[in-house]
Amino acid sequence: MATILCYAPVVGDRLTRSGQEVLAAGRAAAQVAGGSVVAALVGARAKSAASAAGRHGAAKALVAEHALLEPYQADAYLKALQAIVQAASPRLLLFPSDSQGRELAPRLAHRLRATLITEAQAFASKDGTLAFTCQTYGGKAVATLIAQAEPVVATVRPKTFSPSEAPTAGEITPIAVTLTPQDARTRVARKIQEEGGGMDLEVAKVVIGGGRGLGGPEAFKLLEELAQVFRGAVGASRAATDAGWVPTSWQIGQTGRSISPDLYIAVGISGATQHIAGVASAKTIVAINRDAEAPIFKVAQLGIVDDYRAILPRLAAKVREVTGKG
Ligand SMILES: Cc1cc2nc3c(=O)[nH]c(=O)nc-3n(C[C@H](O)[C@H](O)[C@H](O)COP(=O)(O)OP(=O)(O)OC[C@H]3O[C@@H](n4cnc5c(N)ncnc54)[C@H](O)[C@@H]3O)c2cc1C
Repeated sequence: MATILCYAPVVGDRLTRSGQEVLAAGRAAAQVAGGSVVAALVGARAKSAASAAGRHGAAKALVAEHALLEPYQADAYLKALQAIVQAASPRLLLFPSDSQGRELAPRLAHRLRATLITEAQAFASKDGTLAFTCQTYGGKAVATLIAQAEPVVATVRPKTFSPSEAPTAGEITPIAVTLTPQDARTRVARKIQEEGGGMDLEVAKVVIGGGRGLGGPEAFKLLEELAQVFRGAVGASRAATDAGWVPTSWQIGQTGRSISPDLYIAVGISGATQHIAGVASAKTIVAINRDAEAPIFKVAQLGIVDDYRAILPRLAAKVREVTGKG
């Protein structure tokens, strides 16, 4: 039976949320095209995540464990993944479209001379062939792609496949990987833990985004207050991060982070296509902008045309009153 190999990232000894999502994507692809879902687990203690991979539907986990696989380093991980691919001979390899997946997938595709498809969000059958539905033009259009050659390496958009438990026998196969420190062509010289930042943007159910319209970094305090009331996170447009008002890691959009919250409140953000690309999967978008003609109102379900300074404190007070939180 054809193998669908899902690279499921492990942090420490834990299967990540993106790993669970990519296994859900593997199951969705198997439903359309048939095949067996196999997890590729890489890390110094990756075996500990194998039973979780089985719970999330992997019929088998191929585990490459080595002390040099901690911390994550792309060259070492690629070597481990190549050993796993050799053992599995997959027709389809799925990666989460996160920072690791975006780095590993194209490099592995090149080494395997495989077809690369990015940002898949659904699978369908087209004349008996697996077709990939992918976002394109920064989320403005959807393309259906059919690979002309196998194997196929594909990245999967975050939050498009919901993890659910589908326990299997979950066989575990260790894969030997030989690594030396020379295999890693880069090393982490220094790691700086960012201060604050609140909840992770990708997992927050409510995100408040601030743009150039805020006029400066101080106004982000108001956004943080509102986010606290919602137990959410604060993000920003590129204009705000480029200005140095908030860290670059807060940037949402085509060249920033893709988020899928239940509620996205865009404050002082015009709604450029590059920004909207990162929020296209939000369930509800609310825009606060003093320009009624701002493009953000074309994608927002609810809009408030006013100065944010007049709105945010009242909105925070109202949410506190309704929820009794804050
Ligand atoms: C290759 C490329 C990649 C890019 N990637 C990204 C990306 O990932 N993410 C991203 O965000 N951008 C990205 N951009 C930049 C993008 O094109 C826009 O320039 C940017 O999103 C604009 O940010 P903004 O909406 O905050 O600012 P502006 O476009 O200047 O909009 C500010 C808005 O605030 C409103 N406003 C002003 N004062 C107030 C007030 N007091 N109260 C309420 N509203 C007010 C204004 O009416 C205006 O609509 C990219 C651009 C390129 C070329």
